[in-house]
Amino acid sequence: MSTPMPMPVERRLEQARLPLMSEVSELPIRLLLGPGPSNAHPDVLQAMAQPLVGHLDPSFLELLDQVQQDLRVLFGTENRFTLPLSAPGSAGMEACLVNLLEPGDHALIGINGVFGGRMANVAERAGARVTRVESPWGQPLDTDAMARAIAEGEPDVVAFVHAETSTGVQQDPKTIARLARDAGSLVVLDCVTSLGGVAVELDGWGIDAAYSGSQKCLSCSPGLSPLSLSERALERVRSRKTPVQSWFLDVSLLDGYYGSERIYHHTAPISAIYGLAAGLRRVLQEGMPARIVRHREAAAALIARLGKLGFEPLVNAKDRLPPLTTLCLPASVPPNTEAALRARLLSGHGIEVGGGLGQLAGKVWRVGLMGENARIDCVERLAVALEAELEALH
Ligand code: PLP
Repeated sequence: MSTPMPMPVERRLEQARLPLMSEVSELPIRLLLGPGPSNAHPDVLQAMAQPLVGHLDPSFLELLDQVQQDLRVLFGTENRFTLPLSAPGSAGMEACLVNLLEPGDHALIGINGVFGGRMANVAERAGARVTRVESPWGQPLDTDAMARAIAEGEPDVVAFVHAETSTGVQQDPKTIARLARDAGSLVVLDCVTSLGGVAVELDGWGIDAAYSGSQKCLSCSPGLSPLSLSERALERVRSRKTPVQSWFLDVSLLDGYYGSERIYHHTAPISAIYGLAAGLRRVLQEGMPARIVRHREAAAALIARLGKLGFEPLVNAKDRLPPLTTLCLPASVPPNTEAALRARLLSGHGIEVGGGLGQLAGKVWRVGLMGENARIDCVERLAVALEAELEALH
């Protein structure tokens, strides 16, 4: 029996009749007011549509230099090792923890939401002994409890989240970072939802390693994680007894490409970095002081406007994170209807808002007014749509 001839590739494609992207029915335009991504500015989208060059092309390396310098300004640091990691925020988290921790090391993690919990999981997988210092969701970390745990445990690394996207709490990093440094610990800070929306001062606060995400207050496409490590952190990596378990995230190897040598490590995502370059330029043109005020004013308008519809903020005023507001649902939106209401906002009005995560699922909405979307007109669009949907509901 003869084996049948394989079908030529052109014929297979023809049979599948896959439409080209340009033939696909129009993609929806959404107002992204969830926990991220936020909408990218047209400058960012236009930059991403530019023709490709190679990742070692002098013109690209020049642009990369500029991106790295702009990130230093935004992070508030002189750290030479500052770069856009080619992966999302979770990879930035993993890069910090797997480089700074060796099996058997002690990591102390402050947890008051999903992302502190994720840090603890990553540290455990890196083989560290992990101490969790937990605070209720919706509240900042308890500085006294962190101080006691640091004094008792003398951890190698202390890690916590600056802007907890699962709860809308902004943590003041100064005291915990000082206590940790005084005890000889390295300090890791998650800045995924803070960079570009609230003040970040890595050097002023004494942070050794920090990471962010391109898709939140920077209003760029998801997939890049701005990452910065101090000399103290790099020294710890150099003195490791065991190799970093991840080849891709090993900062000594990443330094070959992002440092002065510019040797191949992996193929950098050219288009995404074009977009990030455009996004960073917009942030710096506006200036952080003005941007911080804009985020604050938009969040205040959101709380006032949706307050009239019965939505109450979960977090005390002094601990609120302007780019992400967590709102408790009013009695007019029972937990079993909230997902359907969000779906109607999306399908009928093109507006995305986020539901609660973990223990807050079904109880709160998470409304992001991040980067380009931290504007009163975004608040107004959401409020008008919500009013209409609530009226239709009752
Ligand atoms: N940390 C925080 C505080 C976040 O909000 C997120 C994502 O929402 C992450 C880490 C993970 O980032 P990514 O989803 O880009 O991997």
